[in-house]
Amino acid sequence: MPPGKINRLVLLTPPGRSALATLRVEGPQAVALVDQFFLPVGGRPLSDRAIGSIYFGHWSRSGGEEVVLSQHSQDQVEIHCHGGTISVNLLRQSLLAAGCEEIPWQQWIASQHSDPITSDALIALAEAKSQRTALFLLAQAEGALRGAIENIILLLRQRDLPAACDALDALLIHAPLGKHLICGWRVVLAGRPNVGKSSLINALVGYQRAIVYDKPGTTRDVLMAQTALEGWPIELIDTAGLHSSRDSLELAAMEATEASLEKADLALLVFDAFLPWSTEDDALTERWPTALVVHNKCDLEAAAGFRPEGVQSSAQLTGGVAELCEQIIARLIGKVPEDAAAIPFTDEQTRALTAARCALARNEVSLALDRLSGPPF
Ligand code: GDP
Repeated sequence: MPPGKINRLVLLTPPGRSALATLRVEGPQAVALVDQFFLPVGGRPLSDRAIGSIYFGHWSRSGGEEVVLSQHSQDQVEIHCHGGTISVNLLRQSLLAAGCEEIPWQQWIASQHSDPITSDALIALAEAKSQRTALFLLAQAEGALRGAIENIILLLRQRDLPAACDALDALLIHAPLGKHLICGWRVVLAGRPNVGKSSLINALVGYQRAIVYDKPGTTRDVLMAQTALEGWPIELIDTAGLHSSRDSLELAAMEATEASLEKADLALLVFDAFLPWSTEDDALTERWPTALVVHNKCDLEAAAGFRPEGVQSSAQLTGGVAELCEQIIARLIGKVPEDAAAIPFTDEQTRALTAARCALARNEVSLALDRLSGPPF
């Protein structure tokens, strides 16, 4: 059968259990296929009914799964059923056995939009972890990035290279933020055992979750908590304390801490303000010079002597936690773009924009145009 003649089945609602699920059947035999299984209340088959109406009935046999059908056109039918995996699979299996071909929802989205930026943004939206990041992705689905690229192409056709370069730079400035709109940011807390890393995570997320215990080395695994600070989705990662040890379990845990720090978008080095600054502490700040330094337990009497600059916090009294949030956001987000700003949000987009900018730096206008017109745009 030619590709256009295939009857396609797509699950439009998210995988897993929910109150309701929606399956869509598209193709030349969509109505006939669904009619094989649909037992409408009142008895008239779909093929006899007006397009655009909604019908209630059962699937396959009287007393079978309850379904509500909406027929969008001769070749598009949506089936709404209970959202349990058993009901969805029952409908799915019968339609597949009758000759439908199932496609992933991402492929269906892509088939509905001629602009790949729109479909990429809609697919990304399903992954957005906070309303704030979703709104930026929605702006891209509604054409913010497409508009900016069209404008750059126009400037290039008018041979206004300086303006095109500025416009590309303005887009690329948001690429680091765009990269995190889908997956959020990873913040790793590290430091010697017992300085209050787990307690700080509790204070930051606002509830008790990590293991807090006053015996050094309690947190042996890397623990995580998802939160949103000022609407930015952030994964806080608690690590095993960094200290000298011969215990093989602790050494392995410290290796995991180092690996976690390497991959972090921001490292927080937490120190105990009650204890004097030590050479071990110096070694940590030298090893991770870009880390944000936090002096915790500032509710206790601070130890005399030198301490490097850092945020003063008390995880126990939640003092300084607001300032810590501010500093984390300042480091991770920087300047917040305007609401409807154009933002590249995939690595492919950033790579293509960077390649276009590099081509312009070499005065290669047609190469830049190619990069702005080919995939992923
Ligand atoms: P971690 O090993 O670095 O994760 O440290 P924990 O969060 O498990 O805390 C170790 C101990 O320090 C616990 O008894 C906490 O109650 C205590 N603690 C943590 N933060 C503070 C703080 O800001 N002030 C005071 N006084 N005690 C704290």
